[in-house]
This record gives sequence, C-alpha cells and structure tokens, in this order.
Amino acid sequence: MKAIATARRIAHVPEEYEIKAHLLRTAAAPQGLYGNEAAPIPDSWMRRLRAAFVNAIRPSTVKHSNAAVFSSASHGPDVDPDVEQLKRKATRLRRTCAKQPRRMQQVNTIYQKYKQIGYVGIYHDGTDLEKLQPAPPPGDRARGAWKAVTAPQGPIGLFLQALHCIAAALKDDWTIHKFREEPFNIFRCPWQQLKHILPSWAIHARTQQASETRACLRGTTEYDDIALASALAAATHEEQRITTYVASGGATSQVYLESFGAVDSTKCRLCGGPHQDIDHTIWECAHPTLQAARRGETAEDTLLASIPIQCIPPSLRIGLPPALQASPTHAFWGEHSEAALWPAEIHAPGELQTLLGCTSEHLTEAQWNAIRTELPPHMQHANARQQLRSLIGHAVLDLNHMPEFVNGVAPIDPNAFSDGSLTDPNAPRWALPSAAAWYPLRCTELSDMENAYAEPFQTMEGLEPENQENELDMQRN
Ligand SMILES: [Zn+2]
Repeated sequence: MKAIATARRIAHVPEEYEIKAHLLRTAAAPQGLYGNEAAPIPDSWMRRLRAAFVNAIRPSTVKHSNAAVFSSASHGPDVDPDVEQLKRKATRLRRTCAKQPRRMQQVNTIYQKYKQIGYVGIYHDGTDLEKLQPAPPPGDRARGAWKAVTAPQGPIGLFLQALHCIAAALKDDWTIHKFREEPFNIFRCPWQQLKHILPSWAIHARTQQASETRACLRGTTEYDDIALASALAAATHEEQRITTYVASGGATSQVYLESFGAVDSTKCRLCGGPHQDIDHTIWECAHPTLQAARRGETAEDTLLASIPIQCIPPSLRIGLPPALQASPTHAFWGEHSEAALWPAEIHAPGELQTLLGCTSEHLTEAQWNAIRTELPPHMQHANARQQLRSLIGHAVLDLNHMPEFVNGVAPIDPNAFSDGSLTDPNAPRWALPSAAAWYPLRCTELSDMENAYAEPFQTMEGLEPENQENELDMQRN
C-alpha cells in the first residue's frame, strides 16, 4: 500500500516525467517489491501498483495501453514493477547460491520436486516453446489460466510461476528457454547479463501480449527500444510529452468520442475528413498546417510523409518502432502483414526505399534467402536481434575450472576468461569489445607479453594486440 501511495505522490511532484520515472525506480519499486522473492504478490495489488506507476510517467489519457506506456515513457530502464519483480527473483536466487554454495543442493532438490508434480515453468523434453504464450497482465481475469494448480511453496515455485507468465521455462541444468531466444544459464551466465536478459524477455512478452489485444499495437511483438530512446533523447520535453501521449495508445479522437455518444459524428474538425482518429491526424489530415508540419524541413521528411499509411505498421504510426527485421530488401520493420503490398505493388521512389532500408545494394533477396536457410527453421523468421543473438550465443562461465591463483610470475599463456562483456557489451550499439586481465593482489611491473597485449593497434580487421604472435613465440621459446 505504501508503494502505491508513494507512486501517487510522485505523480504530483512538479518535475519532468524523466525525474518521476527515476523516483519510481529508486523509491516506489523497492517499497512495493520488498520480499517478492519469497512471498507472492496478489495480482489485484500488482494491477494497482502498475496503474499508479503508469499515471506518474505520462500525460493523462483515457484508454491507454500499460504496455505501450511502459515501453515509450520509462525514460531509461523499464519501470514496470512486473518486469522488475522477475529480475529480482532471478538475481536473488543467483546471489543466494553464490554466497552459500551449500544451498545449491537444496535448490536442485526443490526444483526436482516441482518437476515431479508437472509444475508450470518447467522445461522438459516435450516442451514446445512456440506453444507457450505470455500471460495477460496482472489483474486480467484470463491470467488465471497461467496459474499453477498448486500455489508456489517458496522462492523456486514463485520464480517458475513468473517464468511461465512470460512464456519461458527453466530446465534442470538451470538454463532458461524462450521461443526464438538464445537460452542462458542463470548460475553461469555473467552476472551483468542476468540483469539485462530476463527483463528484456519480460518486456517482449508484455509487448507480444499487448499486440494481440490492442488494435493500435497489432502485429508488433517487439519494439526497437534503442531507436525509440535515441529519438526521444533528441526531443524537447514538450515533444517528449506529446510523443508519449500519442504512443500510449490512448489519444482522444472524434471516433472514440462518437463511440459512446459524446459527439454526433466522427468527422475531422480540421479538414472535414469522414473519420478522425489519431492515425488520420498524424498521417492523413489535409489541414494545411498539419500538411506543412508533415512535409518538414528536409527532403527526407517530405519523402517519409509520402508513405501510404497502410504500409506503416500500426504501432509505428503512433511512434513505437517495431524491432529491426533481418531481411535486407524489406523495410526496417520487415514484411509487415498489412503492408504486404510494400514494396512490390506500391512503387516507392528509390530514395524512399533506401531511406526505409529496402535495398539490395549489399545483399540481394536471393543471397539473403540462401543465408536464411542456414538458420534453424524456427529462427528463419526471427528478427535481426534474435538471429544475431542466436549466432553469438551467451557467454557461460566455467565455474569448475577457475584460473589458478598466481603467486609470483604470471603464466605465459593467459588463463583468463571472459566476463561476458565481449558477447553482451553494456553499450549495445557500435560497442567496441574490450578485454582485461585481473590478477588479485598483483602489484609488480607488467611483463613484456602483458605490455604487448595492453597496447593494441588498429588494423583494417579491427583492433589487434601489438605484435601478439611474435611476443608469445619469443616467450614460449
Ligand atoms: Zn483531418
């Protein structure tokens, strides 16, 4: 209750939404989720907590989608408490077993007990990940179908239940699986990955569920959060307010007002068009001021304004970009179902096609199809992020073979292991991977070989350690 009151107070703080989102993350969420790892959160309570959070981070709307609000208005890491609770369950489990290794045996036994009774969230040989569906949001009556017959008896049961709600499942080797996602091991993935992977899966599950229930979000099962964040970062506070208002899926329109008799007609009051909804106002309204705004100031703006609305996915029309698709010859959002006409039947000018990413300059459709068939069948229609992740994999720490403690001179061959930043850098775009060696308590000068590794130089193929081969050979001999 205290957390809901805190979130409501934050909503009234006379600050920008960005500050309010930060306050929710740092003050209201810890209050509301305290102890959620060991005790269940009632759905009705989580529904009210989410509503209080949503009301604090965007301008008031009548029929918004919580999923769209959290995705567009979090101003940083997602503030959805339902995403945060899953992350907390996973990290607490990992932390407990790392600090008290004797617990591992106990945790395994409990998992096996749940497995024996056919509990939810368990991955077994017959699990068809594609058939798992994300649960409706907390408070929705249909969510009951995702509940286990037996109530969770403790942290493991609660974690399994939470995984089941995001259409994921836990295997007995402690890897977590989800359709079209690269599995990762909760105890052996690098710590910093755990805090990113599971919340992102929860967000995708939330988006997928919303896409099935809200017309303005249909067809989009994942948003490009990086594209959205960089677009919002370049906007003024006023523009951010307008964008998040529209992107919440709850913008008022004549069509909406007419639906319950508040107005007599759905006619646009600006241009007289027969059907004024938010798509009409943003993309089609013939009012001269809106037309001029749409044409913008650059040739690119004018080209983008010329795209027929049916070629744009519904979520993108209100400002939520779908995840980047892998096909090089289709638009960035891929073969959008309603834009199947794009680009084959509507002949867009070449510049526009290039602007939208439809180009066979680097890779023809035939070449792309040849590459695609190399992927496992279930990944062939995955988006670009999923395909790349499937190729890279997730780092796994080999905890049974930790490097030996070094007393004295460092060994010739580096016995280091990756901390995961090579495969999952925290800066997601254009990130340069880095490597480092850490010797506990070492304070002597660097050896020649270490210096050789420490001073990289740039080649056409990327960064390389200075004279790596020669130095290694020299030392070995
Ligand atoms: Zn109009």
